[in-house]
Amino acid sequence: MLACPQCKGTDQVVKLEPYWRSLGQDAEGKRDLACPPDFKAQWQWPAGCLVGAVLLLSASEILWGLALLVVAAVTTVVIRYRSTQAQEARARWHTSMYCRHCDRPFTPAEGLAS
Ligand SMILES: [Zn+2]
Repeated sequence: MLACPQCKGTDQVVKLEPYWRSLGQDAEGKRDLACPPDFKAQWQWPAGCLVGAVLLLSASEILWGLALLVVAAVTTVVIRYRSTQAQEARARWHTSMYCRHCDRPFTPAEGLAS
């Protein structure tokens, strides 16, 4: 059993996900405690930049083509990073615990073994 890292109590500690599901739609905390939103990757931006870069390079516009290639690479890195961050936050939410006494969620790693 995990104890709350704040009040050190165990009797009010529950798993976050079932607790959140048990809350009424307009209950206090229903929105605050909700699972973080999924990140919708918009791959059309780097894909469009890549197509534009190929067209520019084939038209011998080397400088603009390379610039668009860099933009495509940067947007790809940013999208992958944000997507990973969102997945990790959602995974953390699914395993989180919640202290009803302190009104605060915490991860099992933060919780105190008792
Ligand atoms: Zn607590």
